[in-house]
Amino acid sequence: MKNIAPQLPAEQYEKNFAELHPPFTYNSALIEANRCLYCYDSPCMKACPTHIDISTFIKKIASENLLGSAKTILQSNWVALTCAKACPVKVLCEGACVYNNKDEKPIEIGRLQRFAIDNYFAKGMPPLFRKAKKKGKTIGIVGSGPAGLACGAELAILGYDVTIYESSDIPGGLNTWGIAPYKLRREDSLKEVELVKSFGVEIKTGVMIGKTIQVDELLKKHDAVFLGVGLGESPQLSLPGEELSGVIGALEFIEKVKTENWKNVQVGKKVAVIGAGNTSIDAATESKRLGAEQVFILYRRSNIEMSAYDFEYDLAKKDGIVFHFLTSPKKIIGDKFVEGIECIKMKLGEPDIKGKRKPVPITGSEFILPVDMVIKAIGQETKSNFLNSISGLTIDDEGCVVVDQESYQTTNPKIFAGGDCINGGKEVVNAAHDGKRAAHGIDKYLTNK
Ligand code: SF4
Repeated sequence: MKNIAPQLPAEQYEKNFAELHPPFTYNSALIEANRCLYCYDSPCMKACPTHIDISTFIKKIASENLLGSAKTILQSNWVALTCAKACPVKVLCEGACVYNNKDEKPIEIGRLQRFAIDNYFAKGMPPLFRKAKKKGKTIGIVGSGPAGLACGAELAILGYDVTIYESSDIPGGLNTWGIAPYKLRREDSLKEVELVKSFGVEIKTGVMIGKTIQVDELLKKHDAVFLGVGLGESPQLSLPGEELSGVIGALEFIEKVKTENWKNVQVGKKVAVIGAGNTSIDAATESKRLGAEQVFILYRRSNIEMSAYDFEYDLAKKDGIVFHFLTSPKKIIGDKFVEGIECIKMKLGEPDIKGKRKPVPITGSEFILPVDMVIKAIGQETKSNFLNSISGLTIDDEGCVVVDQESYQTTNPKIFAGGDCINGGKEVVNAAHDGKRAAHGIDKYLTNK
């Protein structure tokens, strides 16, 4: 990179990456829990993809039964700490809270969930669940992200021997490597990994399925296989200059930030992030918090069409990120290093097949934005090459594995799948739900229920 932002003092990094939402104190949690109306129809519970019994866990906090509260939460969601901290609660449970209809602040469900689960981990994960009698069958799980962990934990409780195969040396998948540290620290994700291991689930790290071991071998070794492989790389922009030093994929960048070795993560003085989804916002705000002087988000449509949540957009604006809407990159400029990005202004034309208005370039509106770094954040591709190599699977036009919506069984009866590899990229909480449901699909399959 030509112009690298200078390192910050260590305490500045800590400040910049401090948690966005600090934990409740004991008293403040009780006060908040006592505000809950324990609605009989719990719209909050319906809005949660894992259907946590929210009013019950909050009631247990109010009555100071914190372990009981944690049990209620974990019964529905094995990665409840990650979800408490990283879920878009404003559009899920808290967005559905009846207090919104009264023009009052909704119950802070995410922070209360965190309060109960933090206490559970602080108490050393006392046993809350009884495992079923051993079934004498083994399940192989590919990927230790939220779907794999949830599936593994549930299967272990159901009496199965479970081995999770993880390509990285540190397990946890997206929870460990893909969530901005001011939302979730790596240590939080690793606590959930330890919880799953405490049920007897074995996690083999550094194992690349398809290279170190083939899926066929897993199918011979195990009675069923669950695929929770997530998504792959950021797609190519196919722009001239993409090979220059200073161009990086958003996930690769976020992974570096997640090492928490912040002083060694290089960031340009001026950064352009291409795309306007939630990952783009993470990459942009992380760049700013690492010391970048100016960070731009370039998006070819307007703020109405962007996929980032409103609260993410607000966070980015608070961090001083500059948005260039209706702007498309044409060329990355530089000799060896990125020196700028040539953009063209767009206008919105007719809607495409998905109903999104198509951006149309405005002739002669090109301009150059001087930047030192370009972060590609235009989504992620599925691991379609890997998935296509597995016999008997059906892969749809989007590159996702086709599964039965109830059992999560693929068109290869011995293989089940869940999480981003079946939906193309949703929230952690969706993956946690898929993993748990798939565990029951596997149980049904193996017990001929
Ligand atoms: Fe409590 Fe709000 Fe859920 Fe009602 S909707 S049970 S008030 S959190």
